Amino acid sequence: MSATAPSVDVKTDEAAQDLTDGFHLLIDALKLNDINTIYNVPGIPITDLGRYMQAAGLRVLSFRHEQHAGYAAAIAGFLTKKPGVCLTVSAPGFLNGLTALAHAQTNCYPMILMSGSSEREIVDLQQGDYEEMDQLAIAKPLCKAAFRVLHAEDIGIAVARAIRAAVSGRPGGVYLDLPAALLGQAMDAAKGAQSLVKVIDPAPAQIPSADSIARALDVLKGAKRPLIILGKGAAYAQADADIKALVEKSGIPYLPMSMAKGLLPDDHPQSAGAARSLALKEADVVMLIGARLNWLLSHGKGKTWGTEPKKFIQIDIEPKEMDSNVEIVAPVVGDIGSCVSALLEGIAKGWTPPPAAWTDAIREKVSTNVSKMAPRLQNNNSPMDFHGALGALKTIIKQRPDAILVNEGANTLDFARSVIDMHKPRKRLDVGTWGVMGIGMGQAIGAAVETGHPVLAIEGDSAFGFSGMEVETICRYNLPICVVVFNNGGIYRGTDVDPTGRDPGTTVFVKDARYDKMMEAFGGVGVTATSPDELTRAVNEAMDSGRPTLVNAIIDPLAGTESGRIGNLNPQSVVSKK
Ligand code: ADP
Ligand code: MG
Repeated sequence: MSATAPSVDVKTDEAAQDLTDGFHLLIDALKLNDINTIYNVPGIPITDLGRYMQAAGLRVLSFRHEQHAGYAAAIAGFLTKKPGVCLTVSAPGFLNGLTALAHAQTNCYPMILMSGSSEREIVDLQQGDYEEMDQLAIAKPLCKAAFRVLHAEDIGIAVARAIRAAVSGRPGGVYLDLPAALLGQAMDAAKGAQSLVKVIDPAPAQIPSADSIARALDVLKGAKRPLIILGKGAAYAQADADIKALVEKSGIPYLPMSMAKGLLPDDHPQSAGAARSLALKEADVVMLIGARLNWLLSHGKGKTWGTEPKKFIQIDIEPKEMDSNVEIVAPVVGDIGSCVSALLEGIAKGWTPPPAAWTDAIREKVSTNVSKMAPRLQNNNSPMDFHGALGALKTIIKQRPDAILVNEGANTLDFARSVIDMHKPRKRLDVGTWGVMGIGMGQAIGAAVETGHPVLAIEGDSAFGFSGMEVETICRYNLPICVVVFNNGGIYRGTDVDPTGRDPGTTVFVKDARYDKMMEAFGGVGVTATSPDELTRAVNEAMDSGRPTLVNAIIDPLAGTESGRIGNLNPQSVVSKK
């Protein structure tokens, strides 16, 4: 028993009946707050915690690596507006989970990472405990809030604080440190029950000021070429009907960021998706709804934004986001649901739609670009190129609008984002703000578990490698996930060579790799597809059966470009570029 723990002697069975402990208080605190799913990797000191959770009716999903359990929890947070919970062991397990926690923080997804930790007294004196690490200190700079619980009677408050910190204001990642000694700490059961806290109104509405709404409407009304940009904050807010009404009643063209695709269907007449360059260059007033002016929007300046002077209106729950990169002439701080409904009220009082010259120009550009792309999507080449393969998958997503699309890779990501139309909100889950590889299987599993809908994961062969072992997890829980690996034999392309002739080139993988066998190894279905027709057949079969499936889609190793569409981010050597 740790020196800091209030010790209770358990002498008789009678006495034991009145006791609870850290394990059970934690479970009760989570259940009281409707947190019913835990993504974890078992081990010391939380193995029994997982077992007790499962016995108490929580759904506990065990992964093969903490990072993927963490990505599942992070995307669960995005999809449900409740914190997704990831549970890990100490030091290395914690560090593996921390990548996902930082990812949740960066993407504004509510998530709680709970990690077991070693004996405080030994860790703090650095006496070399099993998996010794000051986890709280390490987590702190990477998340929104970090807490450590030392006494069983504080578990209720700690869980309440973690939930509130994760979902209120701008959502984000929270770390909860659970020293091993805490879990076994006993306390009186009745006092324990009293110590639990049900979080009332965890993410209170944040109403924008009337002035800020009036200012935004003024700027919008003065626009000749207005544009709305919808970001994943708008998707997160679940204010779908009001956002659609605002776009349609205002008549303003809109551009969805990648995870906001489907908030309105991508084939909506006001979508400027296929006229992105034109829209960004020429717009005079841009209203950002839950989107940041970060690298994904070229920081709101430079070539992408043309020479036209811009006025920005920004709707965001985080006041500090305003003026992050350029001046925001009309900041609207509040939750998106409240802000958008206030704007709708304003518009209802009188509104002139934007000039037809502008909306027609956008629509024309969209239709030209869509017809230019169409024939490329219909080729049945074997081996496939990106467009042939994605053309097939685009049709499948159109026919199955409830399916969730998970997408990562370089070319596989860039092309899929522009080729595949989304038809419903929160159906496209991708690499997010960091553009990070490795989210694939974790997000696919999280999405399947949280929504019950079939998942289609479109993965570059390199991207898939980061989380590939989780196909065992997919098979173990028999999840309706179809993974399509775009196998072009390498990172970007499959053609790199070592100029010295000694080793494989740095960006290539084993030629003709059989990723389909990985799924077969665990009882799922593995298929190889060499043409778009074969790919269509295999994916439809998987989506109909709901069986875990991996389609090894053979892509021409010559297809693909260095770093996809962000090759410009690579530094160039002045000495040589081969
Ligand atoms: P994208 O990458 O799609 O452009 P970002 O992640 O950059 O989206 O931006 C999302 C923004 O949405 C963040 O600035 C975040 O503060 C904001 N946000 C998230 N949830 C809400 C909400 N419920 N209400 C208002 N703003 C929100
Ligand atoms: Mg590749």
